[in-house]
Amino acid sequence: MQILDGKALAQNIENKIQKEVEILNKQGITPGLAVILVGGDPASQSYVNMKAKACKRTGIYSITHEMPENIQQESLLQTIAMLNQNPNIDGILVQLPLPKHIDTTAVLEAIAPHKDVDGFHPFNMGRILANLDGFIPATPMGVITLLKHYHITLQGKNVVVVGASNIVGKPLGALFLNENATITLCHIYTQDLAKFTKEADILCVAVGKPNLITKDIVKENAVVVDIGISKLEDGRIVGDVDYPNVSPKCSFITPVPGGVGPMTIASLLQNTLKAAKLRPSKH
Ligand code: NAD
Repeated sequence: MQILDGKALAQNIENKIQKEVEILNKQGITPGLAVILVGGDPASQSYVNMKAKACKRTGIYSITHEMPENIQQESLLQTIAMLNQNPNIDGILVQLPLPKHIDTTAVLEAIAPHKDVDGFHPFNMGRILANLDGFIPATPMGVITLLKHYHITLQGKNVVVVGASNIVGKPLGALFLNENATITLCHIYTQDLAKFTKEADILCVAVGKPNLITKDIVKENAVVVDIGISKLEDGRIVGDVDYPNVSPKCSFITPVPGGVGPMTIASLLQNTLKAAKLRPSKH
């Protein structure tokens, strides 16, 4: 069994980004990321802090717009409109989830597609489905980058993705399809989940339920990518896979933490850099 070390790869990627940012600096460009955080959810705050720190490490300018829980949708949309016009901002990211009174789709659709570094705008989602260049959501992008780094063949493989959200499962399925894998997307309504997971050469899980994936439902020598993040009562961070019992059966497996999490941040930085490189033709 080999560990898919997302932490180490993310570090390599950050080092490369830092060098590219220095080159852009010489051309008078500092890549800029604006993050909008609504409300005081501790998990969201912690993710936003991690993103801001990663920007700082790599020389990307970042600014966080903190807004109260009861913010009116119109004010949020005005902030996005202002950021869309700001020539120093290359990427705009709205930390999800948003409060219930806000229409998340309307907010995501307000972001200019060329600044949509989270890749959640339907424009970029559509481009992924059509296998065209665009912004790929950071978590699915990080998963594919990690697998490719370890030279894991995707073409022709049976890939099962458990969890079918717009931000993780669905785009991840589309990316695997673009790599010529055969994909199965499972979700809460899937009947007999084990029937599918047992057939997976590559099993990716993005649900948020610790120990959902046990060793009896994983194929021998499977590649297992654990995307889930849950905080246990004792403070430990775990994924969706029963790691101690599943890992001996795998050919490759991601740890939690230290697997997909750091790759997500690195991918966001890559997207911001990509947006900055396109800047001269945009303004
Ligand atoms: P979500 O709640 O939007 O979607 C969860 C998905 O899991 C849904 O499609 C649902 O149908 C499915 N599901 C729920 N229970 C199931 C079950 N028993 N069997 C099969 N499918 C089931 O969540 P999300 O935003 O996609 O996030 C999923 C997990 O990934 C969470 O733990 C989240 O914290 C984590 N996550 C991690 C990263 C990272 O960087 N590592 C990034 C994003 C999300």
